Amino acid sequence: MNPRERMAAVARLLQDRYGSLRARSAEPPLDLLIRTILSQHTSDRNRDLAYARLREAFPSWEAALAAPRDRLAEAIRGAGLHRQRAARIQEVLCRIRDERGELSLDFLGKLPDGKAAEWLLSLPGVGKKTAYVVLLFGFGRPFFPVDTHIARVAQRLGLWDGRGDPHDALGPLVPRGAELSLHLQLIRLGRGVCRPRGPRCSDCPLLPLCPTGSRRVESRPRKEER
Ligand code: SF4
Repeated sequence: MNPRERMAAVARLLQDRYGSLRARSAEPPLDLLIRTILSQHTSDRNRDLAYARLREAFPSWEAALAAPRDRLAEAIRGAGLHRQRAARIQEVLCRIRDERGELSLDFLGKLPDGKAAEWLLSLPGVGKKTAYVVLLFGFGRPFFPVDTHIARVAQRLGLWDGRGDPHDALGPLVPRGAELSLHLQLIRLGRGVCRPRGPRCSDCPLLPLCPTGSRRVESRPRKEER
């Protein structure tokens, strides 16, 4: 099987295990962008707490932009790196307002995929993962964000060699239309089965495709479940 066929097989096996997972965001894309900026290098729980406090303190993005930076930082303290993140959020809001005349990302819906991605990636501190999350979850565009779980699973599967940006290696392999569900399925697998330490290979639906899992099961059939 070539890499595309292997990724398609991964998608089929995960579909059988988990079914379709769909979680298109109902929130405005700008909210999603700020939430995703808060999620960088922190847990989902801390991100959600910080985001809730941020919205409570500043119900509008205009208010968050106009606020003293220290107050904004205080509101998102729970996410860590709060001063740095507060600066980043205000820089992003400032750029959107100055360039678009309003604090909204709805205009991205009218741009072609490539242009929309290019624009988001031009924002300060916005990388491919963040941009693709906004485009996939906020607009239903065919982008494939790669988080740490997906990168680990892909590397163990031999679909990414660990060099360069995993988005560039994995994105072209994903079957069109499967981006959202496969992203969520791989994260679920990475959290519960293909864990960073002690992957549960003998319980993994991807074992028939996985060189790492085959080696582990052959060499340590009993130890892996500990
Ligand atoms: S077989 Fe093991 S290493 Fe391979 S994807 Fe599954 S849990 Fe991860």
